[in-house]
This record gives sequence, C-alpha cells and structure tokens, in this order.
Amino acid sequence: MLTKDQITDILKEAGVLLEGHFLLTSGKHSNKYLQCAKIFRNTKYSETLCGELAEQFADAGIELVIGPALGAVQMAYEVSRQLKVENFFAERVNGKMELRRGFVIPQGAKVLVVEDVVTTGGSVREVIDLVREAGGVVAGVGSIVDRTGGEIDFGVPYRSVISFKVDAWEAEDCPLCKELGTAPIKPGSRGN
Ligand SMILES: [Zn+2]
Repeated sequence: MLTKDQITDILKEAGVLLEGHFLLTSGKHSNKYLQCAKIFRNTKYSETLCGELAEQFADAGIELVIGPALGAVQMAYEVSRQLKVENFFAERVNGKMELRRGFVIPQGAKVLVVEDVVTTGGSVREVIDLVREAGGVVAGVGSIVDRTGGEIDFGVPYRSVISFKVDAWEAEDCPLCKELGTAPIKPGSRGN
C-alpha cells in the first residue's frame, strides 16, 4: 500500500490534482482542482491507483465490477482486470441508469461498484439500486478519490485510494484573493 503522500504525488504528476487559485463552475473559489479522467490517459497511473483499490477488495469475493459511464468505464475495466473478474458499465438512458449491451448480472453475484471520484455519491447510489434490482449483491463501493473526506455512507463497505475535502469559498470570502491579489483561473481554460 502507498502512503497518502505518495498517492498525492502520483495525482499531481498525472495532472489530476491541481493546486493554485481556481474558479469552480459553482462560482466559488478553491485552492484545489481535480481532473480524474487524466488518471486513465496513462496506464502507469491507472494500474497503480486501481491496484491500490483492488488490493482492498482482494478478499471480498468480488465476481463483477460495475461503474457508471463515462467516468468509471476505464476504472471498472482496470479494477476488474486486477481482480481477475468481469466488468460492465451502467449508462444513463433518458435520465435513468441502465444496463444495456447485453450486460446481465448473474443472480446473487457479488458486485463491486466503482466511481473515479465520489462527491455527492448520486451516480453510485443509482448503480447500487440497479445492481440490487437485477438480483446482484453489492459487496462494496470503491473510488479513487473520496471528496467527502470519509463522511459518506453507502450502507456497504466503502474504500477509496485517497480521501480529502476540497475547500471552496464564496468570492468575497476567498483567502487566496486576499493573499495573492490575483484573479482565479478557470481550470481547463488554459489547456490544463
Ligand atoms: Zn479567490
């Protein structure tokens, strides 16, 4: 297992975790920004980080890994590859999470639900419901990043590779505006 510092270094090297002064889509300012899709552009990052998660579920008897599209398609693939089981993805059709493409959950199969970053957990809960409706057993939830800082409860074992809260402030309360005196950067707008 890697330490929290080692994982943070990997996330920074991969360009996933940006530190600075950012303008979020909510209009708030923050000192951190996450772009989790960047983990999967290079297999050395996805193999290492998904391996950290697979290790935590190695003895859970997982038979199937499912993640919500698009964010967790590659993650489900890599975690399942390391657990040597199958993987599916769930996708939203007319606003509702569904299994398509002939994906069928065997009755009673022990399923691991994965998501790259858990913020509110909304998509994860939808996939949990979908798995149960289909007759599967949700044996756990796994994410690369837990942005709730360990405050979320899915009612099943939940493990993340790293857990932290991202601070965000209204513009008028932003300490970075006061300290730095610079305008926040909108992530993605400068090719990052
Ligand atoms: Zn600011």
